[in-house]
Amino acid sequence: MSAPRTILDGPALWSAQAHMPSVVGRQLVIERGQGCYIQTIDGRRLFDGTAGLWHANIGHAHPALAEAARAQMVKLETYHTFARFVNDRAIALAERLAGLSPIADPKVILNTGGSDAIDVACKLARRHWQREGRSTKTTILSREYAYHGLHAFGTSIAGLDFNREGYGTESLVPETARVPVHDLDALAGTIARIGPENIAAIVTEPIQGTGGVNPPAPGYLEGVQQLCRQHDILFILDEVITGFGRTGNMFAAERFDLEPDLITFAKGVTSGYAPLGGILISPNIWHPFYVDDAATPVFRHGATYAGHATACAVAMANLDILEREDLLSRVAQLEQLLDRLLKQLQARRPSVVDVRVCGFLGGVTLAEDIAAERAADALIELGFISRPLRGNTLQLSPPFITTDDELTQFVDAIDHVLSTEEAK
Ligand code: PLP
Repeated sequence: MSAPRTILDGPALWSAQAHMPSVVGRQLVIERGQGCYIQTIDGRRLFDGTAGLWHANIGHAHPALAEAARAQMVKLETYHTFARFVNDRAIALAERLAGLSPIADPKVILNTGGSDAIDVACKLARRHWQREGRSTKTTILSREYAYHGLHAFGTSIAGLDFNREGYGTESLVPETARVPVHDLDALAGTIARIGPENIAAIVTEPIQGTGGVNPPAPGYLEGVQQLCRQHDILFILDEVITGFGRTGNMFAAERFDLEPDLITFAKGVTSGYAPLGGILISPNIWHPFYVDDAATPVFRHGATYAGHATACAVAMANLDILEREDLLSRVAQLEQLLDRLLKQLQARRPSVVDVRVCGFLGGVTLAEDIAAERAADALIELGFISRPLRGNTLQLSPPFITTDDELTQFVDAIDHVLSTEEAK
């Protein structure tokens, strides 16, 4: 007979992506934020070196966003956007996003976050080809190590295999396949093997985030776009992390000179002050749904909180701050400083095997004998939040309002942790 097993007693909240026995009893409970810092209920003040989950771009607890939310809620909390109904904030935000979009003359679908945005982008890609009468074009390609959220499509196209495993089939939505991360020949080979007549779209992050901060190999994204055009495959750029300034451009598509068919966004559109995401859609996809004809098809998608008025008002206030404080120019400066600091760190610390910076987004890959999890825990003891990513990598993506001194102190703290580890 097997021994009775202890069931841990923890808070009612089941945490996200957590091995519960490892977190129960040692959770960091955050109750406050201010600028680049957060504070736990037991009074610890921590520098938010990851901007939460890459979202707190303007920093925490900005009064202008609180005021925008309050002003909207006392006027109209929200109204849905189904059929004839719409709210004025959703209309206004979509217009503004269309004006910022790297896709010319786009339409905008709004929803509540990144996983949602991926779901609708993949669904719309498949819908597009069905409407075109090319009914076999259903497969969605994604890259090794990719992270596209954890709704059904995001889970299905996960390039981090552990996110796709355990559901009984290779992927929840069956028609998916993965390609290597930077290899255009391999992508061409996969397209030939599956057949372009069976492929709806490829989804890529411009810079892989959770997969370990992997900037694209030179020419890779341009090559993906070219293969897509050549084979009638839709190109979906997942800008959930990179959208709204993280690379120093409003979208990474501008940095890499891309014009995808669909762009997903979330996080930075509100800097996390309200749950909001969405997609930008190119005319080749939206035109057929706008033909003035009784036979024009309907895209059967929507959610009660798609285009939530308060979330849209908050997004507008967030975009005002990005523009007013010229935070994209600040990101360009911070990228240079981060690049310099991480190169110096690598030169000093033998335990650093690689550093990668693209935009204000950095990854520090550690030697195998120093676990990134342990290093991140030690950093918290010093008052700095980093995060272990795939490939034994530490994430650095602080808010755009970080000062030069704060960034230097953050990298100094990593140096300190690594020198202590190296001495063991
Ligand atoms: N896509 C990318 C590239 C992401 O990094 C994330 C989240 O980190 C998502 C999609 C999912 O976004 P959300 O967590 O808002 O659903």
